[in-house]
Order: sequence, then structure tokens, then C-alpha cells
Amino acid sequence: ERKQLHRLRREPTRTTDGVDIKLYANAESRDDVAEAHALGAAGVGLYRTEFLFLQRNELPDEDEQFRAYRDVVLGMTGRSVTIRTLDLGADKADKTGLALRDEPNPALGVRGVRLSMARDGLLETQLRAILRASGYGPVRVLVPMISCAEEIRTVRRLMQQVAADLRKQGHEVADKIPLGAMIEVPAAAIALPGFIHAVDFLSIGTNDLVQYLLAVDRNNEALGNLYTPLHPAVLRVIRDVIRLARARGKPVAVCGEMAGDAAFAPLLLALGLEEFSLHPATLLEVRRAIRGLHLDSLRKRAPALMRARDRAGIEAWLNA
Ligand code: PEP
Ligand code: MG
Repeated sequence: ERKQLHRLRREPTRTTDGVDIKLYANAESRDDVAEAHALGAAGVGLYRTEFLFLQRNELPDEDEQFRAYRDVVLGMTGRSVTIRTLDLGADKADKTGLALRDEPNPALGVRGVRLSMARDGLLETQLRAILRASGYGPVRVLVPMISCAEEIRTVRRLMQQVAADLRKQGHEVADKIPLGAMIEVPAAAIALPGFIHAVDFLSIGTNDLVQYLLAVDRNNEALGNLYTPLHPAVLRVIRDVIRLARARGKPVAVCGEMAGDAAFAPLLLALGLEEFSLHPATLLEVRRAIRGLHLDSLRKRAPALMRARDRAGIEAWLNA
């Protein structure tokens, strides 16, 4: 069984009706990157840069960040690397003093892009490091906790300015560095028609999207099974985001834990998803699941999925 899974390292992630699905890896360490490469991931779909900032008292400077990002890019040997700007907040064990302390509601507080924009030089330094790494292979920039168009426009302006500065200083910067938004705040999903033109790609963060849509803390075990993507509201939002992205020709992935659960693969394919980003530990299982699925039949069953009224109905669809 293990051995069989292992053999899938070199196999395509192709449905039984011949459609190739892209499996990217979520990574935060060197080991993750090496594993992603060995498993034949299409690239790194989510590089969580928090890792560089946690468990230490001082901020990593531009050069340290640059070396870390460059190593990820080199490690993926030409496959694309999506680097997410810092998603730090009082919800994470931050010792650098960047995040506010004792926020009453950290999940709704100064985290993600809000923190990046609130601290002088933080985002600029990180973008300089990322853009310098783009001289070594294909890089995309992904911004967490986007809730409105203005945030993405601000990041884009800064990116353009940073690129110009770097080139003036003699650094090589890629011509095209796609800029994407995490879709994890419900408002961003709902308002997406108004700002999708401002992004180059999207990545749906179901971990937070589920938390915010259902008002269920992703870390509160007392809430038991209330925290689940198997809710009609969640499916509708995911479907709408994928549909709009596809209609506008913007790549869209799911990068939350949901994408790494092989049991959910039929559902995500039915909703139109063609790019998954998941932890390397689950990549082969998801590949195996997808290789047993018929995409066209699943898409035809999407209306039945959308008619499900509750978790039981969605589970019945999955088991049918
Ligand atoms: C998400 O919210 O789904 C996500 C991928 O980001 P994180 O888990 O780092 O918040
Ligand atoms: Mg998130």
C-alpha cells in the first residue's frame, strides 16, 4: 500500500477522462520544499513566510529573507513558487514584537496584510527580498487576509516601486511577477467581481474562510464538528469564486487543509477546481484519489451537490 503510493511520485495527476490537475505543495521549511520536489509537485503553491519570523526575537533582515526565498526557488528547479507575504498576528506565537499583544479578538485583529501595512518598512523589506529571489526562477506573490480592493492595489503599487528601485540598484528582477490574493475573508469572496481585475491569481484559504463564514473558531475544540467545510454556504462561496476566476481566466487554487483531504477531492473537482495546494504529506493520497475520478461525471453532478441542504446531504453526495 505504501509502496504503491510511493510509485505515484512520477505519475501525472490525471483524471480517468484525461484531464491533468495541478497539485502544488504548501511549504514552510527546507524539508517541505525538498519533499515537494521529490513528489513531483507542480510547484510550491503556498510558502508560508511566518516560519522565518517565529521562534526568534529579532526580525529577519532583507538579506536573510532573500536567501531563504531564493533557496526555495532554486530547490524547485524552475517550477513556480508562490510566496505568501507575512501572515502574522496575535493568533500566532510571535516574539519579535511585531504583532499586537493581547488583542481581544486576534482572528479579527491586526493580522496578515493589515499587520504588513501597519509596520513601517515591513512589507517593503519583504517584497524586496521576494523580488530579488525572482531573479532565480518563477515567483508569484500572494497576499493573506485581503478584504478589499484597496489592499491589493496598495501592495501592487509598492511592488512596482520596489521592482524599479531594485533594478536601479543592479538587481535582477523577473519581468512578470504575478500578484494574487488569498480568498479567506468572506467579504473578499463576495466583493470579488469588483476587484478580480486587480489580481493575477487567487488562492482560496479554506481554513480561515470556513472559520469566518461559519463564525466558528478554527482552533476552538469545544466547537467540535461545527468547524467543517461541509456546509452549503461554504460550498456556494467556493463555487462562486472558482467560477468567476475561470470566467476571467485567472488561475485559482484551494490551499487550505480541505485541499489535502483526499475524501474532498471529488467535491472540489465538481466545483470546478483544477489547482490544489496541499501539504506534501498528503500529496500522493490526493493524487491517487484524483486518478480514480472521472471529471466530467463529477461536473455533471455539481447541481446535485449544490442542492444539498446540510452536512448530511453533502456527505450523501460524497458517498454516492
Ligand atoms: C487558510 O486560511 O486556509 C490558509 C491556507 O492559511 P493559514 O492556514 O496559514 O491561515
Ligand atoms: Mg489563512
